Amino acid sequence: MFDTLSDRLDSIFKRIKGQGRLDEKAIQEGLREVRLALLEADVNFKVVKTFTDRVRERAMGQEVLSSLTPGQQVIKIVHEEMIDLLGGSQEGLNLKGPAPRVIMLVGLQGSGKTTSSAKLALQLRRDNHAPLLVPADVYRPAAIDQLHRLASEIDIPAYPSTSEMNPVDICRDALEKARENGQDTVLLDTAGRLHVDEKLMDELARIKEVCAPSEILLVADAMTGQDAVNVAERFDELLDLTGVVLTKMEGDARGGAALSIKSITGKPIKYMGVGEKLKDIEAFYPDRVASRILG
Ligand code: GDP
Repeated sequence: MFDTLSDRLDSIFKRIKGQGRLDEKAIQEGLREVRLALLEADVNFKVVKTFTDRVRERAMGQEVLSSLTPGQQVIKIVHEEMIDLLGGSQEGLNLKGPAPRVIMLVGLQGSGKTTSSAKLALQLRRDNHAPLLVPADVYRPAAIDQLHRLASEIDIPAYPSTSEMNPVDICRDALEKARENGQDTVLLDTAGRLHVDEKLMDELARIKEVCAPSEILLVADAMTGQDAVNVAERFDELLDLTGVVLTKMEGDARGGAALSIKSITGKPIKYMGVGEKLKDIEAFYPDRVASRILG
């Protein structure tokens, strides 16, 4: 994860640390290289600018320049600012309020929604919840079959949706069934498209209205970098997301999406997908991810 970015930053930091003393010029030069490394990792340019401005402001302080280990001080500042950029502290799912609680997963086709629904259901059951999986993508019958298959693999109940049904009715009825059957968390796997379009957004807005979800999570593919950030902005405008699940983070995702999403949308990354298997999901800890990026 983040191999390219990590390698670049590592060699920049080694050079900074190697210089016994640091003057303003050396700091400027180091930050220019950090800026380039972030841009090449597909981090949003506004985010890069704010980030390097903040690091520069702190690094230019007398405390750093007069320190015996100025290089290490600068690296510490980069580390702290990166944790901040990634969201500060870990944010879990909001499971407050009366059961059944609704977790709505939204996102483009292929982003990993269906897989992530099953992964989250598994996590919830591990935490002693009783989840119900709800396939609500009626336009792609394979998606319904896929979720039913995953649900039976992990022995978690799934609502018996069919492609003839209306997605809003499916979600409303599934919520009712969960209430009757004592399932406390309902995961809605909604339809995706190749692009954000109005019809899809209308449907998602209606599901939101009918089911009053406590979480609306955007599932976004980290491999798509800046595109994932644009998609997050669009979905957030229309649905007011509560968080993001960033998938396919185990590859060298270059880091762009992870580093930009929180500061562009203000919405936290709550989970990351790290593989195709259903156990391959992790809570997103900004400090751990920053450490992985910075080594
Ligand atoms: P959906 O169209 O949004 O429902 O996407 P799917 O859940 O069908 O996932 C699309 C593809 O991405 C499938 O081949 C999944 O196995 C794969 N996938 C989902 N999450 C991850 C992940 O975290 N890592 C990897 N490597 N693949 C993933």
